[in-house]
Formats: sequence, structure tokens, C-alpha cells
Amino acid sequence: MAKQEKAITREKLAGMQVIDAQGHALGTVKDIAFTVGKTGVSLHVEDKKGQGRDITWEEVQAVGDFIILKPTTQTATTQTAQPKEEAKQICPTCKEPLSYIEQYQRWYCYKCKKYC
Ligand SMILES: [Zn+2]
Repeated sequence: MAKQEKAITREKLAGMQVIDAQGHALGTVKDIAFTVGKTGVSLHVEDKKGQGRDITWEEVQAVGDFIILKPTTQTATTQTAQPKEEAKQICPTCKEPLSYIEQYQRWYCYKCKKYC
């Protein structure tokens, strides 16, 4: 199936609303920048406050009544804090893993019933 490629003119792009993947309006296209030597164009978008930002063509997902941007790959900022596991100690007598007794800060062997 051949996808119908629609040519988008500069005139059509200018003044279009830019919506990000979450549905937020980022602003309207004020200008289109072409970079020599690169195939892509970038859109200069300005929000209502007049704050400008450039959006490269690679970020655009679809152009219809609005310019829809691709969802940005969210970098996981909240890393699951792994509880630091105590390095297991082995009882020198029975070779069973020892239990660390926080209260006495010593290793205890339940099998031998003694601190090692
Ligand atoms: Zn033991």
C-alpha cells in the first residue's frame, strides 16, 4: 500500500497550531527554517507569551489541521531505589548463612546459636 504523500507548503505550515503528543498547544508556527545540507526543515514555533522554540521535522508526527508532535521518549527519572542487601556472611562452623543482628551489629548463626 503506497502512502499518499501530501506536499506541505510553507504557506500552509505558517500560522498552524503545534500540539504535542500529550495534547498541549505549544504555539503557532512563525517561520520555517531550512538547513542547507540537511533534508529536514525545522519549525520556529512561538507560544502566546512570544517564547520561541525550534522543532525539527523529525519531531513531527502528523500534519493535519494541527501539527502533532511525536511523543517524547520519557527518561525514567525515578529509579527504583534498591535496598542495599547486606553481603551474606557464612558461618565458619556450619557454613550456613549468618543473620546480621542490627541491634548488636553482629552476625548470628541460628544453627549454632552463637555470634560469629
Ligand atoms: Zn553456624
